[in-house]
Amino acid sequence: MQGMVSVRNLVKTFVSKEETVTALNNVTLSTPPNRILTLLGPSGCGKTTLLRCIAGLESPDSGEISIGDEVVWSKAQGISLPPERRGIGMVFQSYAIWPHMTVFGNVAYPLEIRGIPKSEIEERVKNILELVQLSGFENRLATKLSGGQQQRVALARALVAEPKVILFDEPLSNLDAKLRESTRQELRDFLTELAISAIYVTHDQVEALTISDDIAIMRGGVIVERGTPQDIYLRSNNPFVVDFIGRANFLEATIKGYKDENHAIVSCALGDVVCNAPCDLGIGTKVTIYTRPESFEVVAPSSPPVENEFEGTVTSLLFAGEAHEAEISVGGARVLAKLKFHIPLKKGDKVRLHIDREWCRALDPAEEA
Ligand code: ATP
Repeated sequence: MQGMVSVRNLVKTFVSKEETVTALNNVTLSTPPNRILTLLGPSGCGKTTLLRCIAGLESPDSGEISIGDEVVWSKAQGISLPPERRGIGMVFQSYAIWPHMTVFGNVAYPLEIRGIPKSEIEERVKNILELVQLSGFENRLATKLSGGQQQRVALARALVAEPKVILFDEPLSNLDAKLRESTRQELRDFLTELAISAIYVTHDQVEALTISDDIAIMRGGVIVERGTPQDIYLRSNNPFVVDFIGRANFLEATIKGYKDENHAIVSCALGDVVCNAPCDLGIGTKVTIYTRPESFEVVAPSSPPVENEFEGTVTSLLFAGEAHEAEISVGGARVLAKLKFHIPLKKGDKVRLHIDREWCRALDPAEEA
């Protein structure tokens, strides 16, 4: 089945007197219905340009875009539907709600311009305001709402016309940290309840991990990896992706042998480590392995060492609320470990660390080139 949104071989360049910027370099992407796909990547990687091309706010140079079964833009077929005929809703960073209108007026507007009868408008606005928990605010001027409430008005306005797809561009970036956290949970709940497809742009890694069913990581106008949040955070073999999303300890290593078809024994500054590895790497191959700081645990020093246990010394320690962030010197390496806050630790302490072989991975040398 075709994706709810399918983008094929999309190219977009911005040409000015000074330079030509390739914002999208042959992007192909498809998202199934009823999923939240996030475009994530550093500033300037092309996320907003891709979203604007899907919305019809930007005209690509070549390629094709479909929404549902309909081709909405195609260079080859000479098709270019305007935004209002693409069946999409949009929510942007600046909520773009009308300050002179009430909550009701803002949410009713997309239905009024479609000429929908007044009684139906009232019913649909009532239902959508209930969904976004703004019942009772109908007559309030939109500007007399908190940031989070204004964002929900923008969401209600985008949803009321029952779009096939909803596009979000950094919708929570104007909210403070606490509100951002609760709003993204609400947003995920709304979208899941409505079984609506969404494409969501953010450069906030935590937001991407928490809100998405799928994440596409972009770099320099190209999608470099696509997967579930767990795939992207825990199982990527791409050094750019690993480094971009969260923190990681990278260690130079050499393949010594294989435990089974998915796990290699490597030699590195920590000692011998069993890790996930692409199995087609020969003995002696130089690789980089990585671990996430929260994958380490402190184990009792009395028991005999088992696989992937290492003696180290705490060289610095930060208390970060839910965890200690400890820098630990092990062999010739220094690793960052996020350790449970209830473990009494101080600088200079000797600790024994363990890491499960599943949370330690060798990067694909081909991806590092
Ligand atoms: P950010 O996270 O900073 O919003 P982004 O990933 O959304 O970045 P885009 O806004 O899509 O990136 O920009 C991609 C590239 O295209 C950048 O190099 C940008 O400078 C360039 N670009 C975007 N819009 C224009 C424009 N109207 N004219 C010229 N260059 C543009």
